Amino acid sequence: MVIVCQATIGENELDLIRERVEAHGGRTYLSRGAEKVIIGCIGDLHEGLEAEINSLPGVESVTKVQTPYKLVASQFRAERTIVRAGGRDGTSIGGDEIALIAGPCSVEGLEMLRETATAVQAVGAGILRGGAFKPRTSPYSFQGLGERGLEYLAEVRRETGMPVVTEVMDARQIDLVAEYADMLQVGARNMQNFTLLAELGRIRRPVLLKRGASATIEELLMAAEYLMAQGARDIILCERGIRTFERATRNTLDLSAIPVLKEETHLPVIADPSHAGGRADLVAPLAYGAVAAGADGLMIEVHPEPEQALSDGDQSLRPAEFELLVEGLRPIAEAAGRRMPFTKATERDAA
Ligand code: PEP
Ligand code: MN
Repeated sequence: MVIVCQATIGENELDLIRERVEAHGGRTYLSRGAEKVIIGCIGDLHEGLEAEINSLPGVESVTKVQTPYKLVASQFRAERTIVRAGGRDGTSIGGDEIALIAGPCSVEGLEMLRETATAVQAVGAGILRGGAFKPRTSPYSFQGLGERGLEYLAEVRRETGMPVVTEVMDARQIDLVAEYADMLQVGARNMQNFTLLAELGRIRRPVLLKRGASATIEELLMAAEYLMAQGARDIILCERGIRTFERATRNTLDLSAIPVLKEETHLPVIADPSHAGGRADLVAPLAYGAVAAGADGLMIEVHPEPEQALSDGDQSLRPAEFELLVEGLRPIAEAAGRRMPFTKATERDAA
């Protein structure tokens, strides 16, 4: 149930409404916006309560949420969620500015990570990505550097100031990964690992939740609901391509998921064109399509020498290619009513 109140409603009136709902066994979530205040309610609330609440002072409307997801539903919040990675001075995702997350598929060493981070930061990337624990299809493929990879991420964050995102594959790794990362990634293969989601929800760190390769949009939203039901507030959803009959690409980027998600949820939505296309030459066109479709940001794999990469070299961009992609995005972002990140170079051009 969603209770929409006037923006001018007083504290006492709000308390009264919440007490009524809670007395009936419901849980309430308050959300204040510039134009309205919303109280989202969860629980088996009886029919009569709706009419009772409707008659209270300051209440504009009371409606039932028909979707199976509640906390993540757009109606549940007065404004869209903006996620900040790396605290106050960090990078925002979900505001006017397109957020760029870039870095190698796997952290392979300190020097390559530093080189990639410096290059992508110079052209506007606000968050550094890099896997330390890698979910590889084959047990014989490179599995990541583990804790050493996390240490390299923390070192490069210290040097560059870039917040870092890295994948956590198992609930037993959460404390370790959270020691180093500003944002924790749940990979496509783990989207419905409910134990992992529930544990992650408790630590209150931003989570980047990637869509499972065969998950529906509703299943992705229900996975986010698991996180929120345990207390997570800062969740970013990522469309990274789904498995279809098509073999020309690694996955099929589901562009339509972007506007659908933006309609259904208040959470930010980004796209990962690297894992979607699986080929470096497809990354830019897919990225442009995603931003035109309303994505709040992009996650892109960049490697100083893709042909030497220990994972996903085929889809990794060189730093210079990433720079071209960012330049190409500018007019598209503008046409979509968004801004591109401010960089030293844009500052210089403007002068
Ligand atoms: C990744 O981003 O490193 C990754 C493994 O992606 P996905 O979970 O989408 O396959
Ligand atoms: Mn990868």
